[in-house]
Amino acid sequence: MFKNPFILKLGSFLHQSPGYSREYPFEHEKVQFKEDFSLNNLEGLVNATRTQQGLLIQGNFEGNLTLNCVRCLEDYSHFLSWKITELYVFEGQDATEDELILPANAQIDLGEAIADEALLDIPINPICKEDCQGLCQACGTNLNLGDCGHEELPIEEDSDEEEHSPFAGLKDLLD
Ligand SMILES: [Zn+2]
Ligand SMILES: [Zn+2]
Repeated sequence: MFKNPFILKLGSFLHQSPGYSREYPFEHEKVQFKEDFSLNNLEGLVNATRTQQGLLIQGNFEGNLTLNCVRCLEDYSHFLSWKITELYVFEGQDATEDELILPANAQIDLGEAIADEALLDIPINPICKEDCQGLCQACGTNLNLGDCGHEELPIEEDSDEEEHSPFAGLKDLLD
């Protein structure tokens, strides 16, 4: 299937005392997690720590993916930044719901955890930039690229402007 560059072989941790830790940097130009989910320029740093009962894995990641802006409908590169925390316990320990069993060879695969947490960081309504101008409602021109000359359509609130006027109450009195 897809290449998984997130396998850590942590067998050496088994002989260390609790508290021992090491860092593992990751850097990948492109990672294809699933058929419809890939990230570019992925960088991360994972810290693995030997605990009393197993291993604690903590990682910080960032990367980019292509999204489609809901305002201007153009594809753009969206920056993601996310964390992972995984707690592994040795076989034979009572694992809680949040804990994973550490395989006997201490080889763990962080691919799924990394992908799942990254997916949570993707906005539901992606916008290419804070001040994206969107499309002209009259002709569909991408207003980020240039002005088509159409007036902006009035927003509804403008129609009852009079009611919000500080003189609205005064007008009632006069009537
Ligand atoms: Zn946009
Ligand atoms: Zn226009």
